[in-house]
Amino acid sequence: MRLLLVEDDALLGDGLRAGLGQAGYAVDWVRDGEAALAALKAGSFGAMVLDLGLPRRDGLSVLQALRARGDATPVLVLTARDTVQDRVSGLDAGADDYLIKPFDLDELAARLRALTRRAAGRAAPCVIHGGIVLDPASRQVTRDGAPVELSAREYELLALLLDHAGRVLTRAQLEQSLYGWNHGPESNAVEVHIHHLRRKLGSTLIRTLRGIGYQIEKAGGAD
Ligand code: CA
Repeated sequence: MRLLLVEDDALLGDGLRAGLGQAGYAVDWVRDGEAALAALKAGSFGAMVLDLGLPRRDGLSVLQALRARGDATPVLVLTARDTVQDRVSGLDAGADDYLIKPFDLDELAARLRALTRRAAGRAAPCVIHGGIVLDPASRQVTRDGAPVELSAREYELLALLLDHAGRVLTRAQLEQSLYGWNHGPESNAVEVHIHHLRRKLGSTLIRTLRGIGYQIEKAGGAD
């Protein structure tokens, strides 16, 4: 999943980018409020981690501008201010969750999982689709109870298609989610990953809509 990190502290930003990258996110990092708004305008992100004390435009004002233009990107606010009033202002401005610095990276990762799970409209931690179960906490996938070995990219692609089951995602959308700004994907990378997923999970799971994109159909029955 592509994540926008907005943090002006170089040391913390660097650590977060590395840690969240390790947790499987494609992290785009900007260091001030204006850059954050520009990034959000230019592309779509699965979630944003937003520091409040920022140069050029503070985090609260970024959040207000974002929500005012109808952007529903899930936002987790990082704040060094731990007064009740600051937390209330953040949540009222449209934050979905917050963490007070200093915080633990594992807790941040768990809160992001909960946030994106809610954004996808799921209450249960695991994604279940027919015989396929995907566990975002462990990043494990099983098919009919048997573990399936997926590469990091294959996992991300599957998670994304499952989160948007019933919708068609274009190749450009998938590439953006997988790679962010930093790595120019090879022109056929998505096709290759899809090919591998079909081999491992069955040929009928992912539909190709020629010239449009890819889709996993909504699972019938229990979800
Ligand atoms: Ca700051």
